[in-house]
Parts: sequence; structure tokens; C-alpha cells
Amino acid sequence: MNLRKELVLLAGGLVRRDFSRIAGSFGAGERGALATLNERLARARELLPAYDAACAKALKGARRLSSMEEFRLLPAMSRADLAGYSGHGALASLHSGGTGSFGRVETRLDLPAVAARYAALLSVLETTGWRMGDKTAALHPVEYSFFDTLGERLAERRYGGVVFEFFQQYLLYRLVHNRKNVYYGGNVFSDPAAARSAAEAAAAEKPKLLIARPDVLMAVLKTLRKSAGPEFKGLRAVLTVGTALGETVRAEAQERLGAAVFDMYASTELGYVALSGACGRLHADEAGHLLESSGDGGLLCTDLDNALTPVLRYDTGDLGELSASACSCGRRGPALKFRGRRGKFAETASGRLYETEVIDRVFQSGLPFFQLDAATSSLLLPAGCGEREAAAVREALGLRAGEYGASRPGSLKISSSGKFCYLP
Ligand SMILES: [Zn+2]
Repeated sequence: MNLRKELVLLAGGLVRRDFSRIAGSFGAGERGALATLNERLARARELLPAYDAACAKALKGARRLSSMEEFRLLPAMSRADLAGYSGHGALASLHSGGTGSFGRVETRLDLPAVAARYAALLSVLETTGWRMGDKTAALHPVEYSFFDTLGERLAERRYGGVVFEFFQQYLLYRLVHNRKNVYYGGNVFSDPAAARSAAEAAAAEKPKLLIARPDVLMAVLKTLRKSAGPEFKGLRAVLTVGTALGETVRAEAQERLGAAVFDMYASTELGYVALSGACGRLHADEAGHLLESSGDGGLLCTDLDNALTPVLRYDTGDLGELSASACSCGRRGPALKFRGRRGKFAETASGRLYETEVIDRVFQSGLPFFQLDAATSSLLLPAGCGEREAAAVREALGLRAGEYGASRPGSLKISSSGKFCYLP
């Protein structure tokens, strides 16, 4: 018997009766979709006048949904809609990283929603083979370091967030889960020595599970290609979340680290939406989330657990292919092949490439990290790179003549939440 786990399940059960079921396996539990949706819809319409007007038009005056077909008539929610919610009554108020031009958005959750997210996280961790108390190392960008951001948040009087995060990071994750955070700076994408120290610091924890964004995992794998060590002895699984995972990266991590790789499709606004199985495709959490295609290849998602500030048919800004067919891994539910962010692509001689496609085109080639900066139509490279590397990148991608013609070494763009992507 795992005492830590028993205690966590007991505490969770006080908040939600279905806590153990949600924690039991990813996508489990039942939120009673249509009845729940009507409750969420009523609340969203009450709090957001512009959204209410759009719903009235779409439903021809009806207040409630009488079927799931009607649900699909509802207008998509945007970040601007979410910004209309106020902060009253929230246990947690989470700020999304704000990738590029999409801006920041605040997500507010009540206690049952926080508990549902935590239970879903436990189900994800257990899917990877991790058991409560197994040593975990999590590679985090330094931008997420609690003490680095503490002063600023206290100055802004964000006391609730500070207490919540201290509980989460230091009491729950560190002491109960046995997770150690390893912080890295944005220089891991331009300085191989920095990438190596991050890899060494993570390996020194002798983790059974490694949690990392796909971008820093790429930096770690690149450094392991160059010379032997550090060895991740005893590592059984890698869980990635936060940026796009290329199939080539997944395959190399599996081989080089000798671990199974699981990828999460998750966001601050929506929680844990989908998890990859052994097949490499992302399977949606059908019990708590409704994932849909918006017709133009975009992804809409509904979080059934957010009762306080409902998120309905939210336009994620992400692109991906959803398929309903049965999957080789045995998981049910729509399978997602993630492509990248809407509007972030490179036109090449062989067609449009989105983030995952750029990754899979170049990751195995040994090229340095680079970025295709659409704003200046230039190629951003780490310091020390020159025309030789720029030419190799242009050739590997098959860029059209004249596109991204200028190269700017030493100018990689790292987002405010420490993310790297090829198409910033
Ligand atoms: Zn599958």
C-alpha cells in the first residue's frame, strides 16, 4: 500500500466524490456532458454580455441546449471573451505564458476544478508508470522559478497565488510526489555547455520520470549526441508538455534515454486535454474535455470542469488533425495529430510547414537551433553561427528564394515564459 497516495486520494475525495475515478486513469470519470454544459453555458452567458448576445443569435433565442448538435452551434470563445470574467471567488488564478502575439490570459478555477486538474495530473503520471513517491526530475525554465518571481509578485500584492504555488511546488510536488525541479536558462538553445549542465543536473537526480518541455528535451538530446554521458540510469519514462513534440524527437528520446515517451496536450486555460499513448498520437480526455475541429484545421476545446469561469468551445489557436477512428494503442476517443499555432508557418518549395513539421524536417540533421522570423523575414541563429549554417538551414527546409534571406546570429527569441520554437 502506498501511504502517500492513500492520503492524497482521501483528501481529494473530500473535495470531489469522483476524485479517485479521475485519478484512476486518464480520460476516466463522467461529467454528464449535456446537463453540465447547460450549467456552464448559463453561467458564461450571465457573466459575459457579448458572448450572451452571440449565443442568443446562434440558438435563435433559446436559453438552453437540447442536444449536442445544438452545442456545436455555439459561437467559439476567444481570449477576449475570457478576459471578460472577473476574479471573484477563485481559489487559483493562473496566468498563461502568452506565446508571441497571442497575449496573456488569466484562468480562474474554484476548488473542485483545481481538484479535477490535480486528479487528472495523477492519472497522467501513473500512465507513465510513475507511482506516488518515485523520484522525478522536472526541467523548468528559470522564468518559472518560485523565488525568482516572488519579489515581483509580492510587490503586485498577488498573495493568494504565492501561497497556492508554494503549497503546490514545495509541499505537494517536492515532499509528497518527490519531484525535484531543475532550472535552466534560455541559453540552453544557443550554448551547448548550458544544455549539457541542464542534462547533468537532471541526470544527477537519478529520476525514474523526467518531465520536460519538448524544446529543452531537444537541447538535451543534441548534447547527448556529441559525447557520452550524462547517463539517465533507471529512467523509465519521459513526460513532455508545453511546446510541440516532433515525432523525430519522440523517437530519439525513446532510443537515447531508453525510456517511454508520453506527450501531453495541455494549457493553462484548459488543463490536461489529451495524452499520447504508445502510438504517438494524442488521445483526448473525453470525460472532462470536448475537443473539436473548427473546420479550418483549428482546435476548439471545452473544459467541463471549470464551473466558475466556463470555457466553452474555446479557440485554442492551435492546429491539428482529429480522427475518430480506432487506434492501434487501444485507446478510445478522438486522436489528435498536433501541427502548431495558427498563422505560424513557413512557406517552402514543398508547401507550408508548421512547427512540428519544421522540427521533423531538421531535428535529426544536426543543425543548430534557429528561428524563422516572419516579422523581419530573417533567419535567427545562435551567436557564432554564420552564412554556412544559414545556407544549410535554408536547404534543409527548402525555403523559397529570397525568403528569410537575412541571417542574424545571436538573436534567438525566447518567450516570456522561456519557450523556444522554430516559428516564434
Ligand atoms: Zn493511440
